[in-house]
Amino acid sequence: MRYNKQTCHRCGAETNSLRASWFNIHLLCCDCRQEEAAHPLYTYAQHVEFVKTQTGNYFFAGIGLPVDIQTKHCRQ
Ligand SMILES: [Zn+2]
Repeated sequence: MRYNKQTCHRCGAETNSLRASWFNIHLLCCDCRQEEAAHPLYTYAQHVEFVKTQTGNYFFAGIGLPVDIQTKHCRQ
């Protein structure tokens, strides 16, 4: 079996599956997705994206990465 390794945009980990962030345009590994899902602004970010697509904006880049997550990943 051949794995196609990809790199998480946020933490730099190698992973086999990346998914889009709800906060910005990053593609995330499983750990970073779980971190987002536990964040207090997660449901708000999903709601805003839903509203934007309902009004025809399919290029919405997200509400922006919350400062606490930014700070955590910039310290590395
Ligand atoms: Zn990650």
